[in-house]
Amino acid sequence: MKITVKSLSYSTYSSFINCPQQFFYSKILKKRPVGVSANLPFGSGVHAAAEYMYRRQQAFQEPPEVDVLMRIFQSVFDHSTDVIYGEKQPKEQLFSTARQLLTLLVNEPPVRVIAVEHEILVPVDGFYVIGRIDLLTEDQNGLILWDIKTGAKKYSDEDLKRVAQQLALYGLGISKPVRYAVKTLLKLKEPRIENLQVPVTQADHQEIIEQLLMVKDAMECGKPYRIRSYRCETCGFKHLCDPNNQKENTL
Ligand code: SF4
Repeated sequence: MKITVKSLSYSTYSSFINCPQQFFYSKILKKRPVGVSANLPFGSGVHAAAEYMYRRQQAFQEPPEVDVLMRIFQSVFDHSTDVIYGEKQPKEQLFSTARQLLTLLVNEPPVRVIAVEHEILVPVDGFYVIGRIDLLTEDQNGLILWDIKTGAKKYSDEDLKRVAQQLALYGLGISKPVRYAVKTLLKLKEPRIENLQVPVTQADHQEIIEQLLMVKDAMECGKPYRIRSYRCETCGFKHLCDPNNQKENTL
């Protein structure tokens, strides 16, 4: 099967590098997963609630009630069927964590919101990369481009490097100078939010472009490979990923 990549969203790029094998099952072979990892509806639900909060802050300069955000979270979460829960994260625990994180979010100092979920299209060497800026704010020193993440652990230097490259790409879609930051909503035993300034260099701009071109080539050559990681526990394609199912792994 010949694949030609004419455009690529950042989330598609990201799902490919998380596990090329999962990407091929889902996007190329169109296999149906037996379920979705609970991390996905959790992240989508928190994201949707945060989006509503910042849109409201932009329009009315005040945050909504936490209960309203929880209703948004729940409606997005419950939209997913056949959710696969990790051993340490049953549904009740995830909902309790979501409430704690959204309470912390509502109680953060207000910011001047310029844009929420702003789409960008970046031309990269003959194809397009589609991205979505989670949040653009402004303070006395200028614009700040934010990415909002949920995660199960504190950000490592490697995580920061990866987010720096994502933000470097998004910065190409903004005509004014910006600073960069990431807001991580952490699903820890004691949930917390970390707001981190992200230094973005010219080398990050260069590296993300090279990475995107390499991923495009890897997609087009159609040779998936597995990346065994903590994601395997709740992967909806785990049943196909057994080496005994070799026939399922070819195009
Ligand atoms: S089980 Fe693990 S290696 Fe296999 S597709 Fe899923 S995430 Fe990738």
